[in-house]
Amino acid sequence: MTEMFSQLSTNNHEEIVFCNDDETGLKAIIAIHNTVLGPGLGGTRIWNYENEADAINDVLRLSRGMTYKASISGLNLGGAKAVIIGDSKKIKTEALMRKFGRFIKNLNGKYITAEDVNTTTQDMEYVAMETKHVVGLPHLMGGGGDPSPITAYGVYMGLKASAKFVFGNDSIAGKKIAIQGVGKVGGHLLEYLHKEGAILFISDINEGALKHYSKELGATVVNGEDIFGLDLDIFAPCALGAVLNTENINKLNCKIVAGAANNQLADENVHGTMLMKKGIAYAPDFLINAGGLINVYQEYIGYNREIAMNNTEKIYDTTLAIFAKSQAENIHTQKAATELAENRINAILKLKSTY
Ligand code: NAD
Repeated sequence: MTEMFSQLSTNNHEEIVFCNDDETGLKAIIAIHNTVLGPGLGGTRIWNYENEADAINDVLRLSRGMTYKASISGLNLGGAKAVIIGDSKKIKTEALMRKFGRFIKNLNGKYITAEDVNTTTQDMEYVAMETKHVVGLPHLMGGGGDPSPITAYGVYMGLKASAKFVFGNDSIAGKKIAIQGVGKVGGHLLEYLHKEGAILFISDINEGALKHYSKELGATVVNGEDIFGLDLDIFAPCALGAVLNTENINKLNCKIVAGAANNQLADENVHGTMLMKKGIAYAPDFLINAGGLINVYQEYIGYNREIAMNNTEKIYDTTLAIFAKSQAENIHTQKAATELAENRINAILKLKSTY
């Protein structure tokens, strides 16, 4: 017990809920990190964790990230996340997702769920049969549909703002840009960059995607790890977390890193500082990949795609503000972004001192 509470205290998590149901096999953990700005919103991930401690660590880490992402994006949302333990191909059923929906219902709106790794809009439809505290529903149900195109638009805004900061203007025509991972977000990003005339390089483990984009958009295919050593203007990680580790940063030969992947820095302080010292402008991932969250927030308050796109566009100005803060205070950009997010939470907390 002491260990669990000390884990919650490390980053001041508010609440953790364990959901167990032998009938459906549901073993889920909902972590609510901070609800100063509003209800905690974060997707549900299904993952076959090696042990329960890994699942707890993951849900605590991810829920905290959601707090910062919502805050820096100016949303009235707190941070939360859920994980369901197990192999999604084996455990996922309508009954399991609906049972999970019932646990969410019992939180009375303090937690709102959405899709994440190994959950789909169909799963959210099942959750929605039991609770209204769910977003990421299909358009036909009044939802915002797949958030990936809007996420890609936000990454594009962050990437252009980074170009403005580094090169003096935000045109990326003729700039050499590599995308690692041309999946749902990376693929849409590639289209924006192609339209503007960038010189494109791509890597993926999915041969089909590589073939498609090299044929359709003329992108040059790069083999796996080679992507880190390319002579580039911009590197856009859109596949995996923790790619910005010591080994890969040592190889990087670019001016900017701006991509969609979550938790790109293997260690926020060590690798945020390392990038800064190497003179690489890093656009914080949790800021520039927030388009999807902005889209589901819009769904929560009444879906309007135009407003979601307009709010996502603001990522451009926030990215510039973070570079300015980082430069003025001589701190790495991840720290600058985290401080901005924390400042907003603290300011709103004080506001609530009056009824
Ligand atoms: P996706 O699964 O559609 O795409 C990921 C792509 O990366 C796939 O094509 C996959 O084959 C490729 N990949 C996997 N391992 C690779 C490797 N070692 N080298 C190169 N490519 C590899 O996922 P997505 O929805 O496009 O999300 C991409 C990233 O952005 C993830 O980190 C995700 O957490 C983050 N993100 C996504 C959204 C969203 O709206 N989808 C929002 C915020 C953050």
